[in-house]
Amino acid sequence: MTRDEIMKIIKEKNVNFFRLQFVDIFGAMKNIAMPLSQIEKALDGKIMFDGSSIEGFVRINESDMYLKPDYDTFVLLPWREKDGSNAARVICDVYKPDGTPFIGCPRNNLKRVLAEAKAMGYTMNVGTECEFFLFRRDEEGLATTITDDVTGYFDVEPDDAGIDCRRKIIQTLEAMGFEIEASHHEVAEGQHEINFKYADALTAADNTVTFKWVVRSIAAEFGLHATFMPKPVFGINGSGMHTNQSLFNLDGTNAFFDEKGPLQLSEVAYKYIAGIMKNAKGFCAVTNPLVNSYKRLVAGYEAPVYVAWSASNRSALVRIPASRGMGTRTEVRCPDPTCNPYLAFAMMLNSGLDGIKNNLPVPDAVNADIFEMTAGEKKEAGIASLPANLYEAIQELKANPIAKDALGPHIFEKYIEGKEKEWDAFRTAVTDWELDNYLSRY
Ligand code: GLU
Ligand code: MG
Ligand code: MG
Repeated sequence: MTRDEIMKIIKEKNVNFFRLQFVDIFGAMKNIAMPLSQIEKALDGKIMFDGSSIEGFVRINESDMYLKPDYDTFVLLPWREKDGSNAARVICDVYKPDGTPFIGCPRNNLKRVLAEAKAMGYTMNVGTECEFFLFRRDEEGLATTITDDVTGYFDVEPDDAGIDCRRKIIQTLEAMGFEIEASHHEVAEGQHEINFKYADALTAADNTVTFKWVVRSIAAEFGLHATFMPKPVFGINGSGMHTNQSLFNLDGTNAFFDEKGPLQLSEVAYKYIAGIMKNAKGFCAVTNPLVNSYKRLVAGYEAPVYVAWSASNRSALVRIPASRGMGTRTEVRCPDPTCNPYLAFAMMLNSGLDGIKNNLPVPDAVNADIFEMTAGEKKEAGIASLPANLYEAIQELKANPIAKDALGPHIFEKYIEGKEKEWDAFRTAVTDWELDNYLSRY
């Protein structure tokens, strides 16, 4: 998309509000809304904002930042259409006043890691599967964890109360150019999944943050609350963001596919998987960023707990979906949809590249149900556990040079600082569980 094309659409569609979007290091989408009079200035990257008010960005004394729009991300916002006038958005990279990219911007950072992959001869494709819950709101409009639907995996109407809302979400996404591949009711009550087509890693990260925003906005129109919280309800499945990923060669062929390789996977694929497994504990603090993320990574709910791979096993961290040829890919199952996808993709890519650069040998596949194995059997098979909580994950992140390299020094430091604060707030809070178990007993 060019500047002229954007200006043409703005006139034709009567766009009178224009949003410049970017994400902070924790993945929260931010935007600055511009009236029509500012659009040209905005398209030229001349809009300045105060970076010191954004989490993890900069200190007060170096706060001026510029937003440089990526024209390809320009899109109208169908749910903001009103009386014939429209709103549009464009995703931006954050730049410093001297005209260089700001390294604390997660989008710039992903571009940096992608450029490193390109120098090695690879591009990365990613497809995310974001699961979410649709919950009722109470009389005051506040979110609850109540759902009135009692259907399960792949069930059909008329039992599915979220279906109208899901249909509107899909229509909205399609109007915005998303190619929707499938949508279904997930395992738990009130849980849904909508799959859109994979893309290059940068576009996939843009699409993932946009997807979450659309889902939440449309659900609100239906009086519902959509949440991507990893484990909103104890005792039922949580929400994951399985991340399908593959490397392509610069000639456009899939670098993970080898007709003659074991399971028709290439050596590159095996080394990539080895790198993911070696660094998984180190990237969890980013792919699974919340205190609550670790309540999902427990046995019995189709979420991974152990560092293992398999062609089919859904308890494994890395699975190899059945499709081959151009669709050959690995599915990393630990990420959850509250992660910052720009950082998560950079982390997983850098981990896989570590495997390729260092010829890491892939451990044997584990095709047995790991949850059925005894501690001794797991030890013998060399199967490690993912971090049990955010604290452990932060320690693993701090100790992992591949993770540090994937985030760059600025984000690495600010990210850990933020997460340590979050852990400390949780650590010192008195929870309902403690009151239920201790108050009357002691
Ligand atoms: N909800 C499961 C998770 O937490 C995944 C279910 C599935 O295989 O789609 O990862
Ligand atoms: Mg699913
Ligand atoms: Mg999946």
